[in-house]
Amino acid sequence: MKDEDYIVKLNDLETTITGLKSQKLRIETKIQKLSAEKEQLQNEYNLAKVRKRPDTSVWVDTKFEWSKEIMRLLTQKFQFKEFRSRQLAAINATLSKKDVLLLMPTGGGKSLVYQLPALIDKHLTLVISPLISLIEDQLIALKKLGIGAATVNASSSKEDKKFVHHEMLNEHTKVNLLYVTPEWVAKSKLFMTYLQKCFDKRYLKRIVIDEVHCCSTWGHDFRPEYNHLGFFKSMFPGVPILGLTATATMKVLVDIQNMLSLHDSLIITAPFNRPNLFYKIVNKPPEKTECLDFLERLLKHKHKDQSGIIYTSTIKECEELAEGLSTRDLRVKYYHAQLDPQSKKIIHERWLKNKYQAVVATIAFGMGIDKPDVRYVIHHAIPKSMEGLYQESGRAGRDGKNSDCILMFNLSDFLRNVSMASSKTEEKNAKSILGYCLDQSRCRRALIAEFFEDKWEPTDCTKMCDHCRNPKEVSYYDINPALKDIVQLIEAASQKEVKLTLNKLITAWFQSGTKELRIPSIKKPSCTKEEAEHMIGFLLHKGHLNIDKGYTMYTTVAYIQKGDIPENTQVMMPYRSHLSYEKVTVKLERNVDCGNVTVKSDSGADVEEIVTKKIKLEHTD
Ligand code: ADP
Ligand code: MG
Ligand code: ZN
Repeated sequence: MKDEDYIVKLNDLETTITGLKSQKLRIETKIQKLSAEKEQLQNEYNLAKVRKRPDTSVWVDTKFEWSKEIMRLLTQKFQFKEFRSRQLAAINATLSKKDVLLLMPTGGGKSLVYQLPALIDKHLTLVISPLISLIEDQLIALKKLGIGAATVNASSSKEDKKFVHHEMLNEHTKVNLLYVTPEWVAKSKLFMTYLQKCFDKRYLKRIVIDEVHCCSTWGHDFRPEYNHLGFFKSMFPGVPILGLTATATMKVLVDIQNMLSLHDSLIITAPFNRPNLFYKIVNKPPEKTECLDFLERLLKHKHKDQSGIIYTSTIKECEELAEGLSTRDLRVKYYHAQLDPQSKKIIHERWLKNKYQAVVATIAFGMGIDKPDVRYVIHHAIPKSMEGLYQESGRAGRDGKNSDCILMFNLSDFLRNVSMASSKTEEKNAKSILGYCLDQSRCRRALIAEFFEDKWEPTDCTKMCDHCRNPKEVSYYDINPALKDIVQLIEAASQKEVKLTLNKLITAWFQSGTKELRIPSIKKPSCTKEEAEHMIGFLLHKGHLNIDKGYTMYTTVAYIQKGDIPENTQVMMPYRSHLSYEKVTVKLERNVDCGNVTVKSDSGADVEEIVTKKIKLEHTD
């Protein structure tokens, strides 16, 4: 071959290589895109499958080989007359070795669903439970019923550990239910070795994961130790898993399925509705003493001598509030994560014995609270998510008697939660509850059901929420002028390189505070500051204003920013015209120049749309 030919050939090859390289790259990019699409589809598929809700009626059968025996155990061992909603279906499914995720409200009776099958299967049921105190309560209850149960954990004595390990491999074991924390599973290699041996001998009959929503980072209670439970399915093939929770959205359920490799699990959901709980939202007074007055009135009159929980968000607030109430002669005590375990135990016990009327607590007072006669749960500060609201208020009325769930709402607490959120998910969770708090007309139960994608019938609420008990007309206000003023204030401040917190914004709007943040041409609104806050909350909820998080040396701050305001937007704010708001209506009419329509509505959201359109039509006419 001549040199020139050779060079031409080399060049050709070079071109071919470059061509092939770029083709390869194109294909790889395509593959990447397709696999992202595939993952997305898979997620949507899983979600749709979870949403579809399988028909669980096939599991409500009394013709299984164990049917007679479970009825005998129910009445004779557990002393109950009949199964509650979904208990039988879940028991039959788990005894048939199906993996089951059971969603049942607090107090619904989830424990029976694994305790009873443990007696049918004999040998060993492993129960993962998040707290040692919770485990201890369960062990006391089981002992009373004469059911063999035990635990191993870091504080177990050498003898106790030896006993449990021995029983795990004993064909005629005395321990049918073995409780451990997820930390123990993650930490104790020796325990895992015994568990493996127990499995090899075919004695491991079932794995139960209580509070299974803690597996999901999307949930409100993620616990990293739950991550270790993901290997159960592959490590112990054929051993059915039963996950239990009182609160999980459909998305969280899909995440749990992924985390635990439970793709074929049966999801059984008991109705979310707790008919005996009265849901109510009140405006939280701005002054601490007013808050104390409100709580004092409740605890001394409506709920005199009745047991309850008051949730608040920070440790400092928790202590201050409890001390404030104590000085008003109320028997209350604070409870939070920084107390030592012994104090926690004492406070819990005294509350159980009604020596304290109420516990003022952070969410550290949570799992395992099983007092039947809690007559009220008050949220002194907005909870950190809808799931939190449902679960915390769900601790009321386990005995089925009417109980109050009262949320004291103000926008600053909401902004604080958003600013303190340490991840995007936490932030999203914190934001998810604003719409619920601001809603002016819809049934609180309908809103909760909507959030959890639960089925909902208007008859599910028998005047057991503030809106259903006291239905009022909702008026609609054009708050565009207010929005314009707010945006002008934000932009003017921004030019001076100042970001506005809620407090600064409101002060400037009301023509007080720092002079340089005020705009003389903007009229001072004649509504109250509380009502102005409501407007800002509404605008945040609609996305016309946004929250911008800032960080100082000591804390995070939420600033109010301009959001998405499409041209010609007409922002109509529904407002419930009950007593304290009537004043506002008059003031707003005079001041903010609102094109104000009153509509009777069952569903605020829909009517809001219609009203907006109607007004536009009237304008064009
Ligand atoms: P959960 O774990 O779902 O919050 P528990 O398992 O602690 O609820 O049960 C709550 C209460 O209901 C307990 O006092 C339990 O004894 C009672 N309970 C459970 N099942 C039944 C039943 N079938 N009939 C009557 N009471 C029941
Ligand atoms: Mg439970
Ligand atoms: Zn209602």
